[in-house]
Amino acid sequence: MSRDPASPAEDDATPHGHVVEDKIPDDAPLAARPGHKLRSGGHIVERGKLGSIPVVAAGESPTLSKQRLEIIAFEQEQGFIRQESDAKDEEGIPNRFTGPTYRTQRERFRFDGHKMNYHLDRVMAWQRGERIAPVHIDMGLTKFCNTACIYCYAVMQNMTRGKMIEREALLRFIEDCGRLEVRSIGFIGDGEPTLNPAVYDAAVLARKVGVDTSMATNGLLLEMDRAHDILRDMVWIRFNLSAATPEAFQRVHQSKGSNFPLLMEKIRELVRIRRENGYPCTLGLQMVLIPENFDQALPLARLGAELGVDYLVIKHCSDSEYKELGIDYSEYARATEDLKAAEKLSTKEYVVQVKWNKIGAAGETYLYKDGYRKYDVCYGTPFLSQISGNGEVYPCGPFYGKKRFLMGDLHQESYYDIVKGDRYWAVHEDIRKSVDVHKDCAIGCRQDYINKFLWDMMNPPEHVNFI
Ligand code: SF4
Repeated sequence: MSRDPASPAEDDATPHGHVVEDKIPDDAPLAARPGHKLRSGGHIVERGKLGSIPVVAAGESPTLSKQRLEIIAFEQEQGFIRQESDAKDEEGIPNRFTGPTYRTQRERFRFDGHKMNYHLDRVMAWQRGERIAPVHIDMGLTKFCNTACIYCYAVMQNMTRGKMIEREALLRFIEDCGRLEVRSIGFIGDGEPTLNPAVYDAAVLARKVGVDTSMATNGLLLEMDRAHDILRDMVWIRFNLSAATPEAFQRVHQSKGSNFPLLMEKIRELVRIRRENGYPCTLGLQMVLIPENFDQALPLARLGAELGVDYLVIKHCSDSEYKELGIDYSEYARATEDLKAAEKLSTKEYVVQVKWNKIGAAGETYLYKDGYRKYDVCYGTPFLSQISGNGEVYPCGPFYGKKRFLMGDLHQESYYDIVKGDRYWAVHEDIRKSVDVHKDCAIGCRQDYINKFLWDMMNPPEHVNFI
């Protein structure tokens, strides 16, 4: 709830003395049992009930239907404010230079950006009005987890113990992705994917039908007797690891400290099996940076090199539109020196990369660091969609559980029919026309990078032939 920061509620203090402030409006419905202890102390909005808030028609803006908006300008940037009453040479050398020169380092991975320019065929089909399949899908396989990381975004997405997509529906979905020419699926988001026993067979089937797969996991319950299958058939596996010692592991992931050495053993074993069998699967670590683990970035970068993985990526913590996790992005500046030192540990075989575009948000203007975007319309969801761990299809993860944006359920309909159907495209249209990306959306959502690209495509400047 909105509170006086000078006198925070007692349950706002995390066990480590950090005080965080959310921005949940006083009249937002709160979840009665918000899940595990978060940085925020567990004030989570009940998203399923948000649909009941009435939308008041005012119609002053051609951009956001049925909403009353005021245009504001600040530091040469423009935005909307939604009003309260609304619900929402010669010899072949160019010159005689003889001194030292320079070569640009090629990017091995692209963590801090997008790859839409490699999929222009699909962009053009979309521009022609075709009912295209996504290039990529982030898909949860469960709605629950065996750890309780204090920065977990999924807790705000209606986590439900025991809920997961059933095996048959999952495998049928994978077949449909092959038919539709979806190019990749990441078993990412919502609950822990290895808690769904069908994850291994899904990866093997996806390889057969020509769809790339990947997985982000805490790794603790990974079935090592399926290691050959996933190392052969998945493109990459990423371990969510934001701590470098058993004590910090317990503190940040809220899992037993004794699980830490077990996880290290599993990662080392996967690296060994991959090397001995020549499997192509990339293995990496991802750290979610929050003030509580700033001290872990450098030790974790050293640990990754020692484990023999291919990379460590360090990312910001995404917060919800109500800032339920209470992330103060200006705090990231304190970690800059350690993050730069961590990146210096990169070698030819091992990449340490910080997502500076997001972590550096505090260096942005007043508008952008408060979560405002560099575009006004979300065009990205037809290209990158997200599917919840219970089999429900949504345009994006931040809207999981909001029935207004539900496109279908993989247990009841084929994914092929969902993607080709009217409801799916009506929801994309609703996103495009009704959502104010500056205020309705999670900060730095998954589609943010591609949205910038698509916004530019859809809003060309004059004289485009003068490239
Ligand atoms: S910009 Fe908003 S609507 Fe679009 S994907 Fe991100 S959170 Fe969803």
